Amino acid sequence: MPFLKLGLSNPLVQAIKALGYTTPTPIQKEAIPVILSGKDLIATAQTGTGKTAAFVLPILENFIRDKRPNGQPNKTQAVRGKRIRALILVPTRELAVQVAASVKDYSKQLNIHSMVVYGGVDTEPQKQSLIEGVDILVATPGRLLDLAHQRAVHFDELEVLVLDEADRMVDMGFAEDINKILDRLPEDRQNLLFSATMTDSVRALAYGFTDSKVGHPA
Ligand code: AMP
Repeated sequence: MPFLKLGLSNPLVQAIKALGYTTPTPIQKEAIPVILSGKDLIATAQTGTGKTAAFVLPILENFIRDKRPNGQPNKTQAVRGKRIRALILVPTRELAVQVAASVKDYSKQLNIHSMVVYGGVDTEPQKQSLIEGVDILVATPGRLLDLAHQRAVHFDELEVLVLDEADRMVDMGFAEDINKILDRLPEDRQNLLFSATMTDSVRALAYGFTDSKVGHPA
C-alpha cells in the first residue's frame, strides 16, 4: 500500500520518496489514519519501526488540511508570538535531535517552522528562537517546563501533544514534569502516546489524557 493511499498529500509523499521510503511500515499503516481522523492514540512501538514518521507525517498532513482536532478551522491570529501548535516530548537530547531532524526532513516542502529544545545548554538562545512561535516543538520535559516558567512558550493554541518513548520518560523520572506540562495545555487537543512497553506507570500517564477517545491499534 503506497503512502498516497493513507491520505497523505503530495508535498509529504514527495518528501518521503526523496528519503527512499516506498511502503509504510506496520505502525505507520495503523497509526496514520487514526491520527488523521483527529482521535487520540496510544501505541506500543519499538524504536526502528518507523514510529517517528507514524506521528509526524499525519500531524503535518493535518496542518496542510488546516484542521484542528475538533474539526474547527484555525483561528487567524493577529499575534502569533510564542505559540506552539504541536508539542513532541521525548526523554533525551539525542532523541530530541533525531526527531527534530525527521520533522525537518518530512516538512521540507511545507511552510512549517520547527524547533528543538533540551537541557544542558543555555536557555537564552532557545528563548530567543521561541519568540516568533513554532508550529512543531520537540522538547525534553525538564527544559520545556523551565521555559514555560520563564514564559518563553505559550500553549494556548496547542493542537497536538505527542509523548514519544513514554516508558523511558517515566523510567527517567519525568512523570511529574510531564503532568505539570499537561496541566498547562488546553484540554481541546489531540493526544498521541508511543511507548515500547505498556507498564502501569505509562497507563497512569495516559489517564492524564482525555477520556474514551483513546484508540488502541493492534
Ligand atoms: P524510527 O522507528 O522512527 O526511529 O525510524 C527508524 C528508521 O526507519 C529511520 O531511519 C527512518 O528514516 C526509517 N523509516 C521510517 N519509515 C520508513 C518507511 N516507511 N520505509 C523505509 N524507512 C523508513
